Amino acid sequence: MPEPVVRAEGLRKSYGPRVVALDGVDIDVRPAELLAITGPSGSGKSTLLSCLSGLTTPDEGRVLCDGVDLATLDDDARSDLRAERFAFVFQTLNLLPALTVAENVQLPLVLRGDQAEDIRRKTTEMLLQVGLADRDGEFPASLSVGEQQRVALARALSTDPDVLWADEPTGALDSASGEQIVALLRRAVASSRTVVVVTHDAHVASSSDRIVTMRDGAIEPG
Ligand code: ADP
Repeated sequence: MPEPVVRAEGLRKSYGPRVVALDGVDIDVRPAELLAITGPSGSGKSTLLSCLSGLTTPDEGRVLCDGVDLATLDDDARSDLRAERFAFVFQTLNLLPALTVAENVQLPLVLRGDQAEDIRRKTTEMLLQVGLADRDGEFPASLSVGEQQRVALARALSTDPDVLWADEPTGALDSASGEQIVALLRRAVASSRTVVVVTHDAHVASSSDRIVTMRDGAIEPG
């Protein structure tokens, strides 16, 4: 068994005195797998994703990325790790409306200071991959919701992240658009990315390599 990309041990997270979102979670995220996290609303899936990806600090337990405990990193080092190794896609589209499709895709590359030629090449490659090369100069508002989610995915994958964290990426989409997103996630895994997806969508779950199911802040045995 290869070393996990991310390992969590004994995660606990509460919101206030009454809400226990994570109640002792151990999980390994393995390289180049599509891992689906499922379970009822309120079972702690988003909180788990947030802790695993270093966006939220657990109250107890630890998260290791390639063996490094995220708690030992200061805020800058943790943000650097997120920017260099991780990428995110959410249910609600977070494209910038005043930027074109191409500008949205290349934003992370511009922000990290890539060379203009590399940015152009990568933007074209990503838009081809998601089937939107001919829409590069349009603004998000002129695209369907499914197309916008493909742009968000192209942007997330433009930095060649090791791990893509996706929270309900097909939640707002019709089934045909959802299938396109699943195909793109599978393709990312085929090119050695690790994808962790929180989902209620049976098609996403059945297309994953492994499913963990949460209930009441814990992973169900099985
Ligand atoms: P899921 O993703 O499975 O719906 P969440 O991780 O979003 O579950 O939520 C787990 C529990 O924590 C729920 O009871 C939710 O209401 C609560 N919760 C999540 N985020 C917050 C927050 N920022 N403040 C207070 N309670 C929260």
